Amino acid sequence: MTGRLMDKASLHPARARYITLWDGKTALGWDHHGTPVFRFKWAPGGLATRRQLKAMRMCPGGHEPYALLVWRNGQRWAYLYRLDLAKPSRVPSPAQLNALDKAMEARRRCKLCGQVTTYCIPTSDGRCVECMTGDYRNTTPNSYAA
Ligand SMILES: [Zn+2]
Repeated sequence: MTGRLMDKASLHPARARYITLWDGKTALGWDHHGTPVFRFKWAPGGLATRRQLKAMRMCPGGHEPYALLVWRNGQRWAYLYRLDLAKPSRVPSPAQLNALDKAMEARRRCKLCGQVTTYCIPTSDGRCVECMTGDYRNTTPNSYAA
């Protein structure tokens, strides 16, 4: 998210006021059409950006952002979400990951010579580049087989 949200004057510290939060606490910030706006160092605890939530393996859980975080005089900003409303994001289980690995490996295994390539083999053909180019050279690709 880029773009100027609020101008420098409206974010002036003298225009800041104490905003009552969802938990009854107060924090110094600005009001932007009913949405609390906080500066980086002034942002109260219990709020996190989407990026911070992701780092904690959380997601907003369908909740609207509670506040806005601004820095660089309002040139940069991000939504802030309530941590108490955030939900754990769906993380694939080890079994699912293993299945995914296997599926990926299957997509990289040549049908002809059986080697596992570093790239994805086109499903229409199913052969690795060596086997495909081997066609043109009229060599036997089976020599690659282990
Ligand atoms: Zn091959």
